[in-house]
Amino acid sequence: MTPSLLQIQHMTKTYQRGMETVHALDDVSFSMQEGEFIAIMGTSGSGKSTLLNILGALDQPTSGTLRLRDEAQREIFTEPAATLYRQQNIGFIFQSFHLLDDLTVSENVALPLMLAGTDAKTIRQRVEHLLEHVGLSRWAKHRPTELSGGQQQRVAIARALIAEPPIVLADEPTGNLDFRTSTEIMTLLKALNKEQQTSILLVTHDAQVASYADRVLYFHDGRIVADQPSTGELGPIMETFERYVRSV
Ligand code: ADP
Ligand code: MG
Repeated sequence: MTPSLLQIQHMTKTYQRGMETVHALDDVSFSMQEGEFIAIMGTSGSGKSTLLNILGALDQPTSGTLRLRDEAQREIFTEPAATLYRQQNIGFIFQSFHLLDDLTVSENVALPLMLAGTDAKTIRQRVEHLLEHVGLSRWAKHRPTELSGGQQQRVAIARALIAEPPIVLADEPTGNLDFRTSTEIMTLLKALNKEQQTSILLVTHDAQVASYADRVLYFHDGRIVADQPSTGELGPIMETFERYVRSV
């Protein structure tokens, strides 16, 4: 059997807030296969962003292990290993795009490769290819602020993919977009997942968005309360959400 792409075991994260201990993650275990598209649903404060930040080595767990292709990643929660792990494995997409307004669209997309020291010709070719892929070639020399929300998120997607990471982590990527634009973004992500076998882990509180994934993990109070395959139908996702997340 091929090993999982990512395997999380007994992950916990606690925060101290005055006298109170907050269990942001409370013994979370799951595996993600190569090419899998997983959505994470849960109410606000259930630990979804905490999990994504840890998987992206932006934050350190309190305890637990992360294995990548069956190899324990003990070093990645401290620098310089964290940066290297992110450069080689992770593309991030955020709700508020996180683009740099002083740079052009092209420069924003190129940034991860520039930081990794890739040669200029390769960078130029990949940027052109990706901008075409996300339908933004004619905006290459513009600033992000001249673009609509949906276009800005497509720039962020191109940036997330430029280093060809095996894993894309998306934290509520459609949270600031209207329904139509959000559908466009999800169609793009789904195509990426299918065509390039990029594994996607996407946080959302929207069942419509979650329905694009192959599988949905439901979070409540830092725990996985349900883990189910998705057929793409909205009904079963909403039902599971109501049953396991709202009522516990
Ligand atoms: P979600 O993304 O599901 O809304 P988060 O992962 O952001 O939830 O947060 C999970 C819990 O951890 C919440 O109770 C939140 O208040 C708490 N939390 C997150 N970050 C911190 C922090 N830096 N300090 C203290 N508590 C935090
Ligand atoms: Mg969050």
